[in-house]
Amino acid sequence: MERTLVKDTLNKVGKTVTVKGWVNTKRDHSKIVFIDLRDRTGLVQIVGTGDLLSSLKPEDVIAIEGLVKVRPEKLVNPHLETGTVEIEALKMTVLSPSSELPIDLGKETLEVELPTLLDHRSLSFRHPKIQAIFKLQAVVIDAFRKAMVAKDFLEFQAPAIINAVPEGGAEVFKVKYFDKEAYLSQSPQLYKSLLTTAFERVFSVNQMFRAEPSTTSRHLTEATSLDAEFNFLESWEDVLDMEEYVVRFIFKEVEERCQKELALFEATIPLMSNKFPILKLREAQEIIFKRTGRDCREEKDLAPEDEREICAWAKEEKGSDLIFVSHFLTKKKPFYVYPDPADPTYCLSVDLLCRGVEWSSGGQRLNDYDTILKNVKEWGLQEEDVALYLQAFKYGSPQLGGFALGAERITMYILGLKNVREASMFPRDMERIDIHLSAQ
Ligand code: ATP
Ligand code: MG
Repeated sequence: MERTLVKDTLNKVGKTVTVKGWVNTKRDHSKIVFIDLRDRTGLVQIVGTGDLLSSLKPEDVIAIEGLVKVRPEKLVNPHLETGTVEIEALKMTVLSPSSELPIDLGKETLEVELPTLLDHRSLSFRHPKIQAIFKLQAVVIDAFRKAMVAKDFLEFQAPAIINAVPEGGAEVFKVKYFDKEAYLSQSPQLYKSLLTTAFERVFSVNQMFRAEPSTTSRHLTEATSLDAEFNFLESWEDVLDMEEYVVRFIFKEVEERCQKELALFEATIPLMSNKFPILKLREAQEIIFKRTGRDCREEKDLAPEDEREICAWAKEEKGSDLIFVSHFLTKKKPFYVYPDPADPTYCLSVDLLCRGVEWSSGGQRLNDYDTILKNVKEWGLQEEDVALYLQAFKYGSPQLGGFALGAERITMYILGLKNVREASMFPRDMERIDIHLSAQ
């Protein structure tokens, strides 16, 4: 019989169907057995005799032929999408048996510590709440793509192997490249910028690699970057407007398509005011000083506690979980940043912060060939290391800018996860590449 998906059983009351999936949980009352069967669309209750179902174990893969029945009102399960029906099993086939489980997948929340969860990654993916994280993340990435395509951006594939590290080398992985050395790309920045000189508007969804020598809860060594870059800017604020449009677009799609996933985490979309507030770095630091007495007014960047504080300010004073912070120190940024003509000590770069943490960086980039070349030398870089970049800007290149959002950070802070590793299917960090490295 043709397979019926779990979610479609709601429309098959009174019919005999075949459902296929995994035994999510089993409640055995000897004569009568209840199974929650899981497929990619959800869970449905199967009820059958002990003879038919009692041998089953969690995660056995089965096919059930049975009759879809409406549940009596007092037995309706409001937590289940299919909670108004159940399937009375007539026939059961084991398609693939499971070994005994090392972790209990039957609880509403996986009650294991993060390292244990990651040690059993292939299994933890089967838990509905873990699946929700990645369903929401897929919507975030899909929405990013849709938002960009709607604005006529071209998707490109960023290279992972690069020849040099013109953005600063401390956090880069060196790889052996035949008899030479190469690096893993920290960001597609230079590629996306140079591509604007041919395609005007480009975006990419790509892996970036950072040898972050720390074990914070928001850094991975391999992360997913949502990059956009475009030119013919009238003003650097065009970059902010484009980014705000993209973020609002993503939130709208998540709100429309991820109600179930948000509910599982009791999560809500970040609060947005009419326009995302914006502060210069020095203004933000002044506010932080006034609010906390902590003097960070000379610092080149916001420390994690500063990011939390300025987000708290934005929420209290502007009714926004999101805030742009701009005008970082030109000399502390890469060679391509655009100094503010009003005060070149600071540049037209901007971070977007949300719920206490940085979600993205962006800004206007230099487009004048001579200035770029001068900076390359001043920043102590080799011209040949940025040869393709220079080539692009030598032959006509209008004002450009863009931004990069971290997909795992967005997922983490929408759902209120404690650790960014939960928002990466296969997180890599100093201690783990799939398995814990010290276990090797
Ligand atoms: P942070 O200051 O938080 O370490 P960054 O300024 O080094 O971030 P960018 O180079 O600006 O990061 O990267 C753009 C975005 O990519 C960040 O705003 C963040 O959302 C994400 N991101 C950067 N590094 C990581 C990482 N190691 N793990 C996960 N996401 C990251
Ligand atoms: Mg940044």
